Amino acid sequence: MKHKWLIGGGVVLMLGVYFLFNPAGNPLFPKCPFLLLTKFKCPGCGSQRAIHQLMHFNFLEAFHYNALLVILLPLMAWLFFVDLFRKKRPSWYRKTHHPQFIWVLFSVILIWWFARNVFSW
Ligand SMILES: [Zn+2]
Repeated sequence: MKHKWLIGGGVVLMLGVYFLFNPAGNPLFPKCPFLLLTKFKCPGCGSQRAIHQLMHFNFLEAFHYNALLVILLPLMAWLFFVDLFRKKRPSWYRKTHHPQFIWVLFSVILIWWFARNVFSW
């Protein structure tokens, strides 16, 4: 249980950093190694800038930086919720950790990865 508090504290700290500082053009934020090496975007490219914009309620700007992140936010919130109540609601946990669910999510991410490089999203 302690590790959840540590992870939660780390997430809150990171969100504070992303709220206060805009990663766009800021050399202190890490650059994507995949983009630097290949010149192709990875599925997560733009996530830091999108999180900063989301925290300032600029949803369109966030969508511009990483549309999949914005689209999947409700799902990520649901997965967090399901994990939090794993012992009280084990059936929810089993459904979201079913191989079919994971394969669908993995496929969506792969399609997004391919499409954003082909169509320059
Ligand atoms: Zn990337």
